[in-house]
Amino acid sequence: NFTIRASAQPLKNADELIDSVETFIFDCDGVIWKGDSLIDGVPETLDMLRSRGKRLVFVTNNSTKSRKQYGKKFETLGLNVSEEEIFASSFAAAAYLKSINFPKDKKVYVIGEDGILKELELAGFQYLGGPEDGGKKIELKPGFLMEHDESVGAVVVGFDRYFNYYKIQYGTLCIRENPGCLFIATNRDAVTHLTDAQEWAGGGSMVGAISGSTQREPLVVGKPSTFMMDYLANKFNILKSQICMVGDRLDTDILFGQNGGCKTLLVLSGVTSLSMLQNPNNSIQPDFYTNKISDFLSLKAA
Ligand code: PLP
Ligand code: CA
Repeated sequence: NFTIRASAQPLKNADELIDSVETFIFDCDGVIWKGDSLIDGVPETLDMLRSRGKRLVFVTNNSTKSRKQYGKKFETLGLNVSEEEIFASSFAAAAYLKSINFPKDKKVYVIGEDGILKELELAGFQYLGGPEDGGKKIELKPGFLMEHDESVGAVVVGFDRYFNYYKIQYGTLCIRENPGCLFIATNRDAVTHLTDAQEWAGGGSMVGAISGSTQREPLVVGKPSTFMMDYLANKFNILKSQICMVGDRLDTDILFGQNGGCKTLLVLSGVTSLSMLQNPNNSIQPDFYTNKISDFLSLKAA
């Protein structure tokens, strides 16, 4: 049961694509910015789309910041984007727990950074863990038994630069021993691009550790899973066929759009090159590709 997709076409007529949808979902890193630098032509492109009445939504798998913290980042970069238009995987974790009515008297154990803690707090959930557990060491003595909180009903795992064995053991105990404890991953990106000099281990590495010890698969709330797409379609009351997903990554962004039945546009301003797209081993083909989103301003029908 699979779909055969035609190879991606270079975007030639941006107006036609723009007219064919009412919403654009933009991935952030590699589309809007690279690290802390704004990508060329982004402000003018977003302004043009808004002036044509398009709804703009920004989605990132990077769970280290909350939507409020991303709001500041957009502002610092001179972009006019409100918090309500930003959907980070940190926010998605809290939104998922809300959507299943996760009990407020249960706790969430967090393996991840500040963004997840901030979103859980805003949503009114109790949590423990996070960066605070980054300095904790286990002193093994004969008969040592690590205690854990039996009221933890969910373990949320995201990218964590303070990851350690204490967190692995704590999260594992909760998932294995607390009846019904959920295992939620913000994202499973294998690599991330903290610097241009090399590829860095991504959020998938922390998720993989917990999956390895518990022999359980997480529920993923970030791209390419369908949770965030369903959430957005519901929230804004939009048809997925009226959305164009724009991203720089095939296995997260483009798959996310395709899983939702959206139109998809790959931009080459991030981690995917034209040769990677056209590599015979790559089976993920977007509808269109182009260099960067500001091509929207220049690509007109002949
Ligand atoms: N996860 C981490 C830790 C990152 O640093 C990044 C990019 O900076 C990502 C995920 C991917 O983010 P996005 O979905 O915006 O491309
Ligand atoms: Ca990206």
